[in-house]
Amino acid sequence: MKAIVDHQKCTACGVCVDVCPFEAITLQETILEISDECTLCGMCVDTCEFGALSMPEVGSGPDVDLSAHRGIWVFAEWREGTVHKVSHELISAGRKLADKKGTDLSAVLLGHNLDPDLFQELIAHGADVVYAVDHPELAHFRDETYSQALAELARRKKPEILLAGATSMGRSFVPRVAALLRTGLTADCTELDMSDEGLLLQTRPAFGGNVMATIVCPHRRPQMATVRPKVMKTEKVPGHEGRVETVDLPESTFQSRVEVLEVLLETDQTAKLTEADVIVSGGRGLRKGENFTLIEEVAKLFKGAVGASRGAVEEGWMPPSHQVGQTGRTVAPNLYVAVGLAGAIQHVVGMQGSKIIVAVNKDPQAPIFDIATYGVVADLFEFVPALVKKIKQEQGLA
Ligand SMILES: Cc1cc2nc3c(=O)[nH]c(=O)nc-3n(C[C@H](O)[C@H](O)[C@H](O)COP(=O)(O)OP(=O)(O)OC[C@H]3O[C@@H](n4cnc5c(N)ncnc54)[C@H](O)[C@@H]3O)c2cc1C
Repeated sequence: MKAIVDHQKCTACGVCVDVCPFEAITLQETILEISDECTLCGMCVDTCEFGALSMPEVGSGPDVDLSAHRGIWVFAEWREGTVHKVSHELISAGRKLADKKGTDLSAVLLGHNLDPDLFQELIAHGADVVYAVDHPELAHFRDETYSQALAELARRKKPEILLAGATSMGRSFVPRVAALLRTGLTADCTELDMSDEGLLLQTRPAFGGNVMATIVCPHRRPQMATVRPKVMKTEKVPGHEGRVETVDLPESTFQSRVEVLEVLLETDQTAKLTEADVIVSGGRGLRKGENFTLIEEVAKLFKGAVGASRGAVEEGWMPPSHQVGQTGRTVAPNLYVAVGLAGAIQHVVGMQGSKIIVAVNKDPQAPIFDIATYGVVADLFEFVPALVKKIKQEQGLA
C-alpha cells in the first residue's frame, strides 16, 4: 500500500517530491507517481496544500501477493562482537521450520564494520544466507534507523517469515518494522510451529498467562513474531554451509532524528538475569528494601543473580531490570530460589522453565509450592541467615 494521489487536485508543484524522506515520489512531467518505497509516513499528505494526497484506509488496498514471499528470516541481534543467545535459539528454531517448509533460512545483521566471525557463527548455527547491512548510521542501535533498514531490506527481499528476540532491542524496534511493512506481529511467543498449509503458528500466553493462544497471520507478509530468550534450544548444525550477501540500501533509510552522544553499557552483572545459572529472587515478604541484602548475600554465595517479584519492584526495593515474570524477564536457570514471594501466575510464567525451584515461604498454601521442586515452609528471616551460615561453612568461609 502507498499514499493515494488525486490527479484532479494535484498541481504538480513538486513540494511533496522534496519533502518525502524515502524518495518515493517523482514527477513524470506533470504526473505525480508514488513508488513502492512509500512507507505511508504521511509527510506528503501533511505538506500538500491542495489536498491531493491521502492515506489509504487501514485494511484497504489490494491483498499482498503471498506467492512473492519466500524464506524465513531471523534478525541477528549482537552487541560488543557477540551474537545474543536468543538469536542462536531462533536460528535453531528457524532451521526446523525452514526444513519443514522446504525453504531457506536467512539471518540479518545490521551494524557498522561488521565482524566476519559473526557471519560464520550464524551459518554454523544453521543460516543458509546472512544478509549484512553495514553503514555508519547503524553503528549504534536506534529505533528509527534499525526499523527502516530492516523494513527496507524486507521490502526488497520479501521474506515470508521474520523472527526476532523479545529482548529490550527487539521489543523496541520490531513493532515499528511490522507497522512499516503493514503486517501483523505476535510479541513474546513461547512456541513456533508450521501448519499443514505452511502458516506460522505463533503461540504465546494470553489473558494473564491463563491460556495459550496460537495466532496466525494469513493475509499479510512477512508473518512476524518476537520470541522470549531461553524458551527455544540452540543446536549447531555440523558442517553447515551458507553464503553472505552484503546489501546496500538508499541513504534515506538511515535518516534519524536521534543522535547518539554516548553509549553507557550495563556494568551491573547481577542485572544480567537471563544469562545466570542461579537466581535468588525476593518478594514482598522481605518487608523492606534493606532486607534485600539477605537475597544478595545468598546470590553472591551461589555466584548468581538477584531477581525480584513485581511486588518487590513496585515497592521500590529493586529496579525493574531485576523483575522476573510476564512483564519482566523470562529466566530458566539451573537453580531458582524464590524467597518470600507468593508465586502469582504472572511471576511463574517467567521462571517455570527453571531446572530446580526452591521456594521459601511461611504460608504452606502459597502457590509457589505448586511448582517448587523443594519447598521450605519457614519464616525467611530465620531460614535465610541459617542457610547463609550453612553455605559459608560448606564453602570454608566461616
Ligand atoms: C498484567 C500483570 C502483569 C504482572 N506481571 C508480573 C511480573 O512480571 N512479575 C511478578 O512477579 N508479578 C507480576 N504481576 C503481579 C502479580 O500478580 C503479583 O501481584 C506479584 O507477583 C506479587 O508479588 P509478591 O509475591 O512479592 O507479593 P505478595 O503477593 O504480597 O506475596 C508475598 C509472599 O511472601 C510471603 N511472606 C511474607 N512474609 C514472609 C516471611 N517472613 N517469610 C517467608 N515468607 C513470607 C507471603 O506468605 C506471600 O506468599 C503482574 C500482575 C498483572 C496484573
